[in-house]
Amino acid sequence: GHEGAGTVVKIGSKVENLKVGDRVAIEPGVPCLRCRVCREGRYNLCPGMQFCATPPVHGNLSRLFRHPAAFCHRLPDNVDLEQGALVEPLAVAVHACRRGGVKAGSLVLVCGAGKKLLVLALFATAAGGGGGAAAAEYIGDIDDDRLAFAKDNGADYVINVRGLEEPIAAQQIVSAAGGSPDVTIECSGSDYSMTLGIHVNMFLFIDLVEMNPYCVIWL
Ligand SMILES: [Zn+2]
Repeated sequence: GHEGAGTVVKIGSKVENLKVGDRVAIEPGVPCLRCRVCREGRYNLCPGMQFCATPPVHGNLSRLFRHPAAFCHRLPDNVDLEQGALVEPLAVAVHACRRGGVKAGSLVLVCGAGKKLLVLALFATAAGGGGGAAAAEYIGDIDDDRLAFAKDNGADYVINVRGLEEPIAAQQIVSAAGGSPDVTIECSGSDYSMTLGIHVNMFLFIDLVEMNPYCVIWL
């Protein structure tokens, strides 16, 4: 797994931001801090990133885990470790919704329901984005179980796009939702979702959460 939190049991001699006993949320992607995007401050896009649970890098679901101190974030007293493990998907969701300009009343197409914690965080963030009104979410996937999960947890509409050409799927989405989504948030890593976003959005804004080596627009 890459969504983790834990208690510091040992620190290096030069670590100044943490002490033994601190409870921390783990930021799972460790960038190179040398390449162009890292130096621009957009280190989440670093092509040399070492990411927990992405082979050959091991995940952090273990009793002991070594991680750079700069990517361990101390939790406040009122946040327990289980909640701390949710910081990473929540942070991704907040970033995606900010980048996409999601606000109260936005119609958001989420492509890919496989990353359940991320999907939940997206729903919570989109719904709480402003004014207290819920944003409408429309989620597309090819797996009925994932779609059922999304439907049970806040999606207003779901569609299984398996076997549907992108323009047909886009028509069905627009028809069911009563309009074009304001934002497409891509969470599947598939080229299909990119194309679907192009067909379905009135104004093109595709917010890529999942890095896809074939896609050229990374946020
Ligand atoms: Zn880098």
